[in-house]
Amino acid sequence: MLFDTHCHVNDDQFAEDLEATMERAGTAGVQYMVVVGFDRPTIERALEIVERYDHVYASVGWHPVDAIDMQEEDLVWLEEVAAHPKVVALGEMGLDYHWDQSPKEVQKEVFRKQINLAKKLNLPIIIHNREATEDIITILKEEQAEQVGGIMHCFSGSPETAHECLAMNFYISLGGPVTFKNAKKPKEVAVQVPMDRLLVETDCPYLAPHPYRGKRNEPAYVKLVAEQIAELKGLSLQEVAQQTTANAKKVFGID
Ligand SMILES: [Zn+2]
Ligand SMILES: [Zn+2]
Repeated sequence: MLFDTHCHVNDDQFAEDLEATMERAGTAGVQYMVVVGFDRPTIERALEIVERYDHVYASVGWHPVDAIDMQEEDLVWLEEVAAHPKVVALGEMGLDYHWDQSPKEVQKEVFRKQINLAKKLNLPIIIHNREATEDIITILKEEQAEQVGGIMHCFSGSPETAHECLAMNFYISLGGPVTFKNAKKPKEVAVQVPMDRLLVETDCPYLAPHPYRGKRNEPAYVKLVAEQIAELKGLSLQEVAQQTTANAKKVFGID
């Protein structure tokens, strides 16, 4: 039994074959999912999907790339949709310095506002970090994000950074890149992070694991991520599946 803790089956790329995608996930043993929405259209679509499928939950947030578009009323709306019984986290939120669509200062402000909303609602947060590790850690500390904790999604940092995040009550989620042959850092992180703090995800339709690299990713492929972690840790796939699913249920508060 596997838990894909971060997927975007609400993306248009799944509009034609969502039903078949969900069936393939079930066949691969993926029983639980969190569908992540990061703007109005993707959040609305995520909520439609979670109402249709059992064991499929949603996380709602505002993506840093689009931080420039977030208005005060969007934050109010986020709070409203977060009251949905199947919303289990806030995010993805964070900083993305790869694309320069939104100025850094705007991204930081929008990030801080969402952390504070999560504290108000007592929901864990899902962090998106691209080329912004130092500022992310600083803001998480300054805003005392450890009060809610959450997930460093598709973690690509060093084992040292991973340990800093663990100390702040965050879980480390690994995705497709851990299966890439030359992905040294994610493999080291998989080895070093204790099993009770690791999660698996796809981030589909992006970042498909080997041997599907470059193709459309989907929740069924989270099994390949779990298999890679099992190999690196010297555990069985079943042990990794069981522990990462238990971890995900704990962080999202699902029984
Ligand atoms: Zn992300
Ligand atoms: Zn994502």
